[in-house]
Amino acid sequence: MPFNKPIDDLTGFDVSEDFQQFNQKNDIYCRSLWDPAVQSDKAEAFFNGYFMPEARSRRTDGFSQRDYALRNATWHITNVLRDIRRQDTGRKEGFFDYFSSHEAGWPEPYAFESPEQASADVRKVAKLCGADLVGFCAFDERWMYSGTFNEQTLDSRANEVPGDLPNVIVLGESMDEDLTKTVPSALSGSATGMGYSFDALTLLTLAQYIRNLGYRAYATMNDSSLAIPLAVQAGFGEVGRHSLLITPEFGPRLRLGRIFTDIPLTYDTPKKIGVQSFCQICDRCAKGCPPAAIPFEPPSQKTHNRSNLIGVTKWTVDAEKCFKFWVNQNTDCSICIRVCPFNRDYRRWYNRVWRNIANSCLRRLALWLDDKLVNRRRHKSTWWWSGKP
Ligand code: SF4
Ligand code: SF4
Repeated sequence: MPFNKPIDDLTGFDVSEDFQQFNQKNDIYCRSLWDPAVQSDKAEAFFNGYFMPEARSRRTDGFSQRDYALRNATWHITNVLRDIRRQDTGRKEGFFDYFSSHEAGWPEPYAFESPEQASADVRKVAKLCGADLVGFCAFDERWMYSGTFNEQTLDSRANEVPGDLPNVIVLGESMDEDLTKTVPSALSGSATGMGYSFDALTLLTLAQYIRNLGYRAYATMNDSSLAIPLAVQAGFGEVGRHSLLITPEFGPRLRLGRIFTDIPLTYDTPKKIGVQSFCQICDRCAKGCPPAAIPFEPPSQKTHNRSNLIGVTKWTVDAEKCFKFWVNQNTDCSICIRVCPFNRDYRRWYNRVWRNIANSCLRRLALWLDDKLVNRRRHKSTWWWSGKP
């Protein structure tokens, strides 16, 4: 497997010969199940808290029973899909394994006039199914997990997504902007939960459509591959200092799904939107991160622990510090999303103007404008519940 590819010239990925494919066993959530360095009673309680009545709600704003009631409900659809084959087969679909709930498709592939026509149809159907962003790129084995995690053996097993599928459909679901203003809170986790629930619906429907056309399609969510490199290759945007994808449409508020398929597609082109240059003059996320998990330094190949990807020059978050903070506050965190200047509603014209300034030599002005004009402090959950006074 070559460690670098021609697409890197367009994405800007700097992959060295030390590169190693990532094994999902080393993902921080998986490590919390087997690695004494991350395992703890608190971590177990954190995961149990996604189910009432173990939510451990408290009187603090954003952590009450009604906040947890909503957050936990937003994960319900993905939990149902996750558990469909869990007991019988150990498959935890959408998290460790691809979604296998499909009906038989058509035996012969539908004859599209061209890959352009197939791409247009898939894009249209993906939008109909609820995707906020749709992009296409070539299969790239570098970003496939070298192994997926098996929660029964607490070890990795072979990645079940076939390696002979030439194309990847990347789907993006936006996260609610107002909810991210209430971070840190249990309530704000609802933005993530709904992102994944919509993602699951879109993935399953679109994959079934492709199978009904007579092609192969494997729908994956948090399983089987790294999401962000494929999203960059599919033209979604760039990666910021906080290690999250930043897109021109939704900034850093996006959840990603992938379908691996052989339906003929034309590929999108990676998009430069000025994020790399902007992050060099901004350190809001690094300053705002309570456990100091985000680097102030320039991109490098430095890794903090086994949860990091080896051999890629980039900004790398210390996942152990980040996860520990989540566990201690008993919900996930997206402070780095809340404080990021790219976190805006781009349906508004003045935010699109700001985006153009940020992607120019006047980026310092854009940062100053964000400082002066945007309230990036935490909003109370009561502000969200009351319909924004
Ligand atoms: S999610 Fe929170 S703890 Fe993790 S990197 Fe972002 S700000 Fe830091
Ligand atoms: S907060 Fe600033 S440094 Fe961090 S990702 Fe956003 S723009 Fe980049």
